Amino acid sequence: MLRIFSIAGLSLFLAILPARAENGAKPVVLATLFPIVDFARDVAGDFAEIVSFLPPGAEAHSYAPTPADMMRLSSARLFLYLSDDMEIWVPGLVAEAPAALLVRAVAPETSAAFGAGSAESGHAAEEHVHIDGHAHLGRDPHVWLDPLRAQAMVDRIADALAEADPPHADAYRANAVALQNRLMDLHNEIFAALADCQTRVVVCGGHFAFGHFAERYGLRHLSPYAGFSPNAQPSPRALAELVRTMRALDVSALFYEEILDPKLARVLADETGAQLLPLHSMHNVTKEDVAAGATYFTLMRRNLDNLRKGLGCGP
Ligand SMILES: [Zn+2]
Repeated sequence: MLRIFSIAGLSLFLAILPARAENGAKPVVLATLFPIVDFARDVAGDFAEIVSFLPPGAEAHSYAPTPADMMRLSSARLFLYLSDDMEIWVPGLVAEAPAALLVRAVAPETSAAFGAGSAESGHAAEEHVHIDGHAHLGRDPHVWLDPLRAQAMVDRIADALAEADPPHADAYRANAVALQNRLMDLHNEIFAALADCQTRVVVCGGHFAFGHFAERYGLRHLSPYAGFSPNAQPSPRALAELVRTMRALDVSALFYEEILDPKLARVLADETGAQLLPLHSMHNVTKEDVAAGATYFTLMRRNLDNLRKGLGCGP
């Protein structure tokens, strides 16, 4: 009797197996930038598998997809990226993708305005030149560094997941709301932590991805790269002027982005006696970041600690 039940149970199991593999397997979601990966994991919970499309440490603006990357597209249900002017290589890549792959950009509409609060350099309206020398043509794509714009990204991510996997749409929306609440808490925390600082000028010894962040929290930023045309290095005159300004403003900290060789920042720090402090711009993370369990929230709080240190914020 028992044996008959077992065999019946086994055939039932085998009968439903193919259906489960096709309809019950978790959809695979490929995501480009680290904040998109991290947010999508929170929004998806257990219902989708979120995979970073970029290898650890790869440069996100000008990544060159490999043939193996093309293969990965065919096993995925959804491809998430920020915008055509951030990951400029994505439109070319997805043009070749299988028709079944859903491709969604998650940048909020507000990404067009650049640098309203960054007039210190006098070049706010000009091109923002980034690390690989290409210009963002007046648009700062680094919207994720502002937690309130990140909330809008989370809406887009939840919409895309719901579209890719309708049976779990309610769970995605609920998880998105919980994440947005945490982003609001983070915003309030940053706002309070930067309320009372000796200086509000953030001097960056390289290209600067924190335009939206600076605007949100009433900081001004100075960079020798601001306003320079693509592929140009800062002129000796611009560097000399920056050193003079740093001395005049009594700036005691110089920030650099973790993805850059801080060579120029080191020269400027030596020249002015300023302390060098890193800011993580989170385009992508390294193996070390992953091993350390980095999340958007841990990296933002580390940035906040360094900003408080460098800007002399109390209490
Ligand atoms: Zn960038």
